[in-house]
Amino acid sequence: MTFHAKPLLLLCTFLCVVSCKSQTVVSNKFSENPPIVNDTTFVNLKDYSKDFVYDMKYATSDNFLKAKVYDCAECFLRLKTVKAIVEANKAFMEMGYKIKFFDCYRPLDVQKKMWKIVSNPSYVADPSKGSIHNRGGAVDITLVDSNGKELDMGTTFDFFGIEAGHDYLNLSPEIIANRQLLKKIMMEKGFNSLDSEWWHYNLKSALNDKVSNAKWNCD
Ligand SMILES: [Zn+2]
Repeated sequence: MTFHAKPLLLLCTFLCVVSCKSQTVVSNKFSENPPIVNDTTFVNLKDYSKDFVYDMKYATSDNFLKAKVYDCAECFLRLKTVKAIVEANKAFMEMGYKIKFFDCYRPLDVQKKMWKIVSNPSYVADPSKGSIHNRGGAVDITLVDSNGKELDMGTTFDFFGIEAGHDYLNLSPEIIANRQLLKKIMMEKGFNSLDSEWWHYNLKSALNDKVSNAKWNCD
């Protein structure tokens, strides 16, 4: 028993130090910035960063549906998606770029509206299954340079053809490099790409979140 007592005592001391230290850190953090939401709460991205550019296509009729399906342009996402995209944007900003948004969280009713206009699963996710956009974990994005000019990605947003796919390589080296840059950083920050759409990224941990129909207010 004596043989074990000393290592055990050391272990307890170590654990106590680690535990006390982490509690102090957490406690300081909480007192300065109290948590008001959990990771899966829907939040407005604008409340967490001013460093994004927006062109919310479905809040206008400038989209493949030729219909405005949002009452107003807002980018809501689950908090964990916001945290990941803010980190990705920081990495892009260090290189002189910023993320520009085309679409974020999409309430299920909006998905139904889109499905009614185009009932083709190649173009619109079937609302009976729901998409990661309906789960608050998907973003449709591109990159802009320091002048706000979009990087050339080879096709427009929501171009439905093989040219929009990551595997399509009959493009200029510049376009391929732009797509690869977007993909590299997004993957590093916790997102998965979608083979057929260079602009679409899913937060890896969003698959298990529920489809939502929560809506935001338009002032
Ligand atoms: Zn998308």
